Amino acid sequence: MTRIGHFVDGKRTTGDSERHGDVFDPATGRRTGQVALACAADVAGAVEAAERAARSWRDASLARRTAVLFAFRELVHARRDRLAEVITAEHGKVLADAAGEVQRGLEVIEYACGIPSALRGGFSENVSTEVDSYSLRQPLGVVAVISPFNFPVMVPLWFVPVAVACGNAVVLKPSEKDPSAALLLAEWFTEAGLPDGVLNVVNGDKEAVDALLDHPGVRAVSFVGSTPVARYVHQRGALAGKRVQALGGAKNHMVVLPDADLDLAADAAVNAGFGSAGERCMAISALVAVEPVADALVARIAERMARLRTGDGRRGCDMGPLVTAAHAERVRSYVESGVAAGAVPVVDGRTVTPDGDADGYWLGPTLFDHVTPDMSIYTDEIFGPVLSVLRVGSYDEAVELVNANPYGNGTAIFTNDGGAARRYQHEVEVGMIGINVPIPVPMAYYSFGGWKASLFGDLHAHGADGVAFFTRGKVVTSRWLDPRHGGVNLGFPTQT
Ligand code: NAD
Repeated sequence: MTRIGHFVDGKRTTGDSERHGDVFDPATGRRTGQVALACAADVAGAVEAAERAARSWRDASLARRTAVLFAFRELVHARRDRLAEVITAEHGKVLADAAGEVQRGLEVIEYACGIPSALRGGFSENVSTEVDSYSLRQPLGVVAVISPFNFPVMVPLWFVPVAVACGNAVVLKPSEKDPSAALLLAEWFTEAGLPDGVLNVVNGDKEAVDALLDHPGVRAVSFVGSTPVARYVHQRGALAGKRVQALGGAKNHMVVLPDADLDLAADAAVNAGFGSAGERCMAISALVAVEPVADALVARIAERMARLRTGDGRRGCDMGPLVTAAHAERVRSYVESGVAAGAVPVVDGRTVTPDGDADGYWLGPTLFDHVTPDMSIYTDEIFGPVLSVLRVGSYDEAVELVNANPYGNGTAIFTNDGGAARRYQHEVEVGMIGINVPIPVPMAYYSFGGWKASLFGDLHAHGADGVAFFTRGKVVTSRWLDPRHGGVNLGFPTQT
């Protein structure tokens, strides 16, 4: 069993806390590690190391910062298979999904390599006679990143490369369920030339999060997780005077209009509903079928689901286990409540025979038809492989349903009518939209974030918003008198 500690000031540490959490391999149910759960003193030690490092890192030239980022990119790229294995061992997602997550993270590192362009300011000559104005952006100091279990590499990489490229020092608090990948990232960043203390990893739970939110040395917090915790982090951090962006949960709808390509829509529903066992913030969990399309669509989805293999992520299966025994139990209880509420289980994931250890946290993909908006399988974020079909009579009813939902992370529309798609993108109150694309995946150079209960704060992750979040602006107005015009003569020869 591995002891998993912290990474502070360029080295692994065990910390002072007596508290520990168990880390499991979800595909076998075996305990594989014990992670230290930081106390406030551990967090304070990491913040102090970051404060010391931030003082000189803010003055590192853009050339130096990008040299480190390029070297880090090469290390992560060369070792991406190892990183994927670590993700699968603690999260459970299949290796192909884990590799995809690493790829998305690499793209943000690559975006951060272009920080000299992204950080450029503006210049206005002669705003008044011999007076110029210009703007510049400077780092905040120490920033905290708090990440969820479902993307142990990609979500930290949404923030850390951009924050560091902007000249900040970071304290990263990964999920205690799959903490190992973040430690590797920090070690590899150091190997790439990042000075000690610029990136620190503190493992822990609520106690560590609260210590970061309350610590006066932390200037900003980037959080990703469930909506109740995101709301709490936003409020507590803002109360302490910090800049906070807190990305929350989701209930993503896919609307299928009667003219859609049903094979394309069915493929998309299966991939986006059950990929990574539905443990994705961009997973589709509500399929809104605009009649008369539902019967044909449900049949096509069920047919594809029959071919899905649930099992150990290392065995080439399509879908892995759920992350913990407790989460698997929770998702199973949603399936039970859907049946009890009268939804029709077209495919019941409880009956699956997994290709894996009997003690893994298994639940197969489940498809419910005739779901109504009052059922808990619709109202709640299940975060598992459960797809609910809601039947509506018109496009207007579909939009009304999506907009009435408290979440607004992602949505998709399937149609061959460009006008309908354009109207949907205009009318829907959701931050990220796919048109004939199930999951609008995060593109590093655009910013990623939802609306409503899916994001608290203003700025989204990475891209231009990320740079804005991790810097603050200054505007300089300067006058340099020209001796020819009566200014102070500094001894320069004046030309006539
Ligand atoms: P979570 O909210 O349980 O945990 C997220 C982080 O907060 C973890 O680091 C955890 O240690 C910490 N935490 C947990 N409870 C806390 C508390 N009471 N006080 C302070 N800190 C606490 O989320 P999770 O289960 O790890 O991740 C899944 C959730 O994240 C889902 O709701 C999913 O939709 C969401 N998510 C959202 C996005 C997005 O872009 N909007 C991306 C990924 C995941």
